[in-house]
Amino acid sequence: MTAMSVEAQQYEPSRDLPARLRRRLTQWQAVAPLPARPPQAMISFTFDDFPRSAAETGASILDRFGAKGCYYACTGMLGETGPSGPFFIETDIMHLEQGGHEIGAHTVSHLDCARASTSRALNDISHNVNQLKALGVTTPVRQFAYPYGETHTELKRALAERFDACRGVLSGVNSKGSDAMQLRAFELGSDESSVARAVSLIEAAARQPAWLVFFTHGVRDKAGKFDVKPQALSALVRRARDSGAALITPSQAIDQIMDAA
Ligand SMILES: [Zn+2]
Repeated sequence: MTAMSVEAQQYEPSRDLPARLRRRLTQWQAVAPLPARPPQAMISFTFDDFPRSAAETGASILDRFGAKGCYYACTGMLGETGPSGPFFIETDIMHLEQGGHEIGAHTVSHLDCARASTSRALNDISHNVNQLKALGVTTPVRQFAYPYGETHTELKRALAERFDACRGVLSGVNSKGSDAMQLRAFELGSDESSVARAVSLIEAAARQPAWLVFFTHGVRDKAGKFDVKPQALSALVRRARDSGAALITPSQAIDQIMDAA
């Protein structure tokens, strides 16, 4: 994939009416409901695609507060440059894993899985997982994030055989009954409102308790729309730690929920 094509497709899903209706229905068809409430408040910080700044600046912020994050890698973007700057390189994968962070799958081609046939999506995802192993991922790839958050029920069912959880982009917290094959999440962007919303969500998650998942792309001062600024991320992770929540990877969160069932 060239840098141009990464740039051109940006992060925009299909906006036509049938696609929007399908998207609405799919979210309510839970194929793998979480079997129990989270035993404690849990927060997962996740990064999509992912830009090098997420691996470098992002991981150093998480490390400072003892948080473990998840990086959903689109292997077709390896070594390329996109709207959030340079994407990850091979050594980033190794360093993240050594630091206890999780590497998840995100397709090779940043495929809109709602517009592709199920078999094409599954082939792309298999290829993505194989490339991650070739890049040195030593632990099983248990997590997947849908590019653009796009999916459909048939694909969710098929992925339930392959992954412990798949993350979408629709807003909400996760608790008993939430679909592990379309985890809810909140985006962290460069705008102040997404950061302010995150602060109140962290406080609410501690009371419920719930599993809160945040996602973003790059972590840099020159933040684009899809990135978070280092200072904002740092303040949020500190707040999350001070709330008493467990700052863990999606697989650690799933394991805790399964143990509580
Ligand atoms: Zn993505």
